[in-house]
Amino acid sequence: MTTETATNKQMRVLDSWGRFPRHSAQVCPWNWETDAPPWGEGGSVLAYGQGRSYGDSCLNDGNVLVPTRRLDHFLGFDSATGDLTCEAGVNLDEILRLAVPRGWFLPTTPGTKFVTVGGAIANDIHGKNHHRAGTFGRHVKWLELVRSDGRRLLCSEKQEPALFRATIGGLGLTGFISRACVTLRPITSADIDLVSRRFENVDEFFDISATSDKDFEYTVSWVDCLSKGAHLGRGIYMGGNHAQGTGAEDLRVHQNPKAKLPFDLPEAALNEWTVKAFNALYFHKQLQKEKRAKVHYEPFFYPLDAIHDWNRLYGRRGFFQYQSVIPLRDGRAATKAMLERISKSGQASFLAVLKMFGDIPSPGLMSFPRPGVTLALDFANNGATTQALFADLDAIVREAGGILYPAKDGRMRGEDFRNFYPQWKTFAALMDPRCSSSFWRRVTADSTTRGSAANR
Ligand SMILES: Cc1cc2nc3c(=O)[nH]c(=O)nc-3n(C[C@H](O)[C@H](O)[C@H](O)COP(=O)(O)OP(=O)(O)OC[C@H]3O[C@@H](n4cnc5c(N)ncnc54)[C@H](O)[C@@H]3O)c2cc1C
Repeated sequence: MTTETATNKQMRVLDSWGRFPRHSAQVCPWNWETDAPPWGEGGSVLAYGQGRSYGDSCLNDGNVLVPTRRLDHFLGFDSATGDLTCEAGVNLDEILRLAVPRGWFLPTTPGTKFVTVGGAIANDIHGKNHHRAGTFGRHVKWLELVRSDGRRLLCSEKQEPALFRATIGGLGLTGFISRACVTLRPITSADIDLVSRRFENVDEFFDISATSDKDFEYTVSWVDCLSKGAHLGRGIYMGGNHAQGTGAEDLRVHQNPKAKLPFDLPEAALNEWTVKAFNALYFHKQLQKEKRAKVHYEPFFYPLDAIHDWNRLYGRRGFFQYQSVIPLRDGRAATKAMLERISKSGQASFLAVLKMFGDIPSPGLMSFPRPGVTLALDFANNGATTQALFADLDAIVREAGGILYPAKDGRMRGEDFRNFYPQWKTFAALMDPRCSSSFWRRVTADSTTRGSAANR
């Protein structure tokens, strides 16, 4: 969709994954080797990776967005250390294609491989191995940051450490990451030894996690968010370890997804009854309490990547993801309270995930992951009904000392953001004065202290 503004600059809508909110921006590609970033285009500027953030943290309403996917060159690989140097628009799919046949894997990965290295750093993403490996930022040796004053800064724990920490999890607001060095981890097989355990309710999830997380490099649980009573929060716990391979034939890279959702589904297609039916089928498909299997990394890490554009499942109004982390002390009670409220509402989808984060500190000043239990769920955008549910969930999160994840957010209150991330003022001082985003303006607009570009 393309529209013209009063200034006659071409404005386009680049969506985030949730397709809500929908904002138009002036889209200016940039070649970091030959050009200066388009700082002078008027308004504020923000990098845009693959738009896999759900809400508005990768949008810049009425201002400038700079797509980074053209920065797609690999720059070096040290097979002794696993250090991979690449431009920031390289995505995880491309890294896996290069690395797996050579016996290397991502240090951590989110639930889709279609995210860029720049995006992974800017949200300091986490994966199923958070309890073992921490966040993505922990595996970044250095990055180059391009600032609007013309400086190109190499940032690491030793060089420009304050900007390094601010850029990891810095929501794209400290400048452009042009390239980075990320340390991969060795593997001998592309397969995962997987153990799946059914749990009947939230209490059993916590018990299994407490006893079993230490046995697995990767853990995650699917949860039936519409179950009630004694079965509140029933689900399937999945624990995985890299399998042992014996040769090159065990290092098979993934295939490209073939299916694509060609159009928006009608809003009514995804409702309480279709989700209930799916959840019952999914839960009961595993008849035995425990199942063991060897699976390729692709279906284990990226089941949703099998269908391109699956976000159209939620129809034209788009959808939200709601992801919280609650400290362990109140984690059990708060998880129950949230699931009770969600189940009562009849909202939410089949995409509901529970996981225990470990205690490895996140390196970023504004990183989301911290010790505790994280719950992530998708909700179709049903207007005021959905917002009323979120207001109740927010109250539970606040009460339990939890926080929400900006990468998944398109609606949290500014006051909540500033309480969840009290370090935001320190961060604002490190922002590039020319960078801003729809998210940042939304969560700081009603504050007296702002980031320098927050007004634009
Ligand atoms: C199916 C699915 C599963 C997911 N699972 C997880 C998960 O398990 N864990 C998790 O943490 N997240 C998860 N996410 C969220 C996703 O990993 C993050 O939102 C990620 O940051 C998206 O990367 P992107 O390249 O699409 O960046 P975008 O969404 O386009 O941008 C994200 C941020 O990065 C900034 N940015 C991008 N490139 C640069 C650059 N070169 N320089 C400076 N800033 C830059 C942008 O300005 C923006 O602030 C998931 C998303 C989807 C769709």
